Order: sequence, then C-alpha cells, then structure tokens
Amino acid sequence: MTAMIRNLLAAATSALFLILTLECHLTASAFVSPTHHAKSTPQSWPSIVSRLRMEVIEADVAIIGGGPAGCTCALYTSRADLSTVILDKNPASGALAITSHIANYPGVDRSMSGAELLEQMRIQAVQYGTRYERAQVFMIDVSEEETGDNVYTKCVYTPDFTVKARSLVLATGAMGRVGNPIPGEKEFLGQGVSYCATCDGAFYRDSEVAVYGASTEAIEEALFLTKFASTVYWITPVDISRETASGLERNKILDQDLLEQLLSCKNVQHMEKTRLLEVVGDMSGVSGVRIKRFSNDDEEVLPVEGAFIYGAGAGSKPITDFCQSKVDLDDNGGVIVDADMKTSRDGVYAIGDIRNTDYKQVVVAASDGCIAAMSIEKFLNNRKMVKVDWIHK
Ligand SMILES: Cc1cc2nc3c(=O)[nH]c(=O)nc-3n(C[C@H](O)[C@H](O)[C@H](O)COP(=O)(O)OP(=O)(O)OC[C@H]3O[C@@H](n4cnc5c(N)ncnc54)[C@H](O)[C@@H]3O)c2cc1C
Repeated sequence: MTAMIRNLLAAATSALFLILTLECHLTASAFVSPTHHAKSTPQSWPSIVSRLRMEVIEADVAIIGGGPAGCTCALYTSRADLSTVILDKNPASGALAITSHIANYPGVDRSMSGAELLEQMRIQAVQYGTRYERAQVFMIDVSEEETGDNVYTKCVYTPDFTVKARSLVLATGAMGRVGNPIPGEKEFLGQGVSYCATCDGAFYRDSEVAVYGASTEAIEEALFLTKFASTVYWITPVDISRETASGLERNKILDQDLLEQLLSCKNVQHMEKTRLLEVVGDMSGVSGVRIKRFSNDDEEVLPVEGAFIYGAGAGSKPITDFCQSKVDLDDNGGVIVDADMKTSRDGVYAIGDIRNTDYKQVVVAASDGCIAAMSIEKFLNNRKMVKVDWIHK
C-alpha cells in the first residue's frame, strides 16, 4: 500500500468517526436497556446513517485494552458476576504480545512466549464470561453529564460499536516514545513514522523500512518487520559488536539469540555507529531517512517508506490519546490513580503500563488488574469493604 493511500484511508476514517460519534450520541440513550448484562442492542435509525448503524453493548465493566492488566481485571470482574467487556485494538500489538520470552512471570515455563501467556490469560477471562471484542477505542465519556445516563455513566466509542458501562478501566499500556523527537518524527507520525511494528508492519509489505535503536525492543520489532519488508535497515548509533583478540564480541546487554536471529536475516542491513538525523518526506508520507555514519562526515538518505524509531525513552509513553484529558495525568503522561487504582473520575480506573511507573512488568500489570477489579466490585455493589475472591462456591 502506498503512503498516499494510507493517508487517504486515515482521512476517510476521521470523517466516519465524526458521523458515527454523532449517531452514537443520538442512539445510545434511545436504546438503553434496564438490564445490566453485557449484551448487544440492534439499532434501526431511519436515515442514511442507518447504513453505518452501530451496535450498543451494555456492561457493568468496560475494559479498554486486552493486555495482562485488562485480562486479569476481566477475569476477576467476571468471576464477581459483573458483566464485562474487553475492547482490544490488537491482541498482537501490546507490550506482552510482542515479548518473545517471558522468563520472569511466576509459575510459567521460561520458554513461553509473551503471546502464548497473553492468550492463556484472555482464554481464562473469556471462560469466566468476559466478552472480548477486537476494537480500537477513539473516545470516551466518563460522567452522567456527558452520557445523559445515570446508570451507564461511561461511554466508550469505537468505529464499529459503542459500549455503555457502569464502570470503566483504562488498560492500554505504554508504547509510544518520549524524549527529544528527531526532526520529521512528529510531522510524519502515523504517516510512515511508527513506534509499533506489530501494529503497522503489514502496511510495509515489499517496501523498504528503517528501524532505529539499539535495544532488545528494537531488535524484536525489526525481526517482525523482516516478514513483510523487502529491506530492513537496522540503524544503531552504537557498536553492537567489536573485534577482540578472542574474536567478535557482541553487546551483552542485548538479547543474544534475538540479535543473531536478526543479523542472519537476508533482508536486514545493519548500519552500526550511524545516527538518524531526520525523517524526510512529502504530502504522501515518509520517503526516506537521512543518516550519518560516525566514520565520515557524509550524510546519505535511505529511500524508506517506514521509519520505526526506538531511541531512548521508547515504549514509555502511555497510550491516553483517546482519553482527551478526561482523567488526570502526571507530568510524564501516566494516569494518576489511588491505592484502589481509581483515577480522578468516579468509576474510572487505570491499570498496568498506562500508569507509567518505573515498574513496567507483567506481574505488576496483573496485580493492578486484580486490585481494580476488587475495588470495582465494592464500588458497583456499594460495599463498605472489599469482598475477597478466594471463597469458592
Ligand atoms: C520488548 C518488551 C519486552 C518485555 N519483557 C518483559 C519481561 O520479560 N517480563 C516482564 O514482566 N515484563 C516485560 N515487559 C513489560 C510488560 O510487557 C508490560 O509491563 C506489560 O505487558 C504491561 O501490560 P498492560 O496490560 O498494561 O499493557 P500491554 O501489554 O501493552 O497491553 C495493552 C493492550 O491495549 C491495547 N490497546 C492500545 N490502545 C488501544 C485502544 N485505543 N483501544 C483498544 N485497545 C488498545 C493494545 O492492543 C494491547 O493489547 C516487556 C515489554 C517490552 C516492550
């Protein structure tokens, strides 16, 4: 797909969002059912927008993000008899999903991949009654004033349907990049610049792409891109290997297996000790990256259509764009929560990497999910105390 078509698609999607959002506000309140179970309500709007008709799903708990945080929360809320729906953009694109091996999650085999562990978490939640929907959330409403409803005070919008819920959990993780942007990076973000190969890699079938960064994350992402791109230029500002008396010595900080795997791919060109100076392009998106090798003063432009950037701070920007300032964030963009995982808005919780703490680990995300679920149960059932989950019927 060319960059031009990609951008046209993005513009068409924005226009659709506007129409769908309008229709959602009109129809959602008209079709609210008094029941509190995750169920679908068919619409019948007698106009041209009926062709864009949207389902409205009602639930006690709506969870945005199907990573370890979201799946654990869903497992607990479903077991507590709260109708629960997970809205997940892509089960293959979260931080756990792209982790090759997960050696430090208690009780699982060290050879298990992140994707396998996540699938087991998702299956377990679904087995307890969670409804899992693949959908990208683009907007939320979080109060009765916004939704016009005193039961379903939270509204979650996706291009295909709307969810009305009594409580809302934000669990979209952190995948963006913080730190000083490279010239052209912000300008072409979403138009060839990406921080997520797993999300966008398939757009670059038979194209040339650049991956910038000397981290294990960059290696994993570059490896993913080798399945699609004709050439992957892996650009690292540092030495990955150096000649010693005993032979070639690889950088020990990086995952050695993955490093060897990437370097052995025929469509990978590794450019060591090279700096990415600028992402260049035009109206139709990225057309190249300007680089400079440390060994000489010459600059050159690699003719790539995609630039995947994993410099310092990559993977640490919480995904909160769909929140539109409706919950309070800290200075680093993390959602602020109290000890119960509750945000600045009643009935809205935030768990996992979206909180942007220093402890971005699967076990921590799962723990956050459990705490949020137990406090949601207390909140929705007006309890004074948290109800424990280890009393089995
Ligand atoms: C390369 C790498 C290796 C790692 N290795 C380890 C390790 O070995 N051990 C360890 O404990 N931790 C590891 N981590 C950290 C760990 O993966 C994360 O801390 C954990 O996955 C966070 O869970 P989460 O549920 O908050 O977010 P994620 O796992 O990122 O899941 C977020 C989910 O939200 C979805 N989403 C995003 N935006 C939207 C939207 N708008 N609408 C709907 N859905 C959306 C995504 O598709 C995704 O499914 C690693 C991370 C990376 C990047």
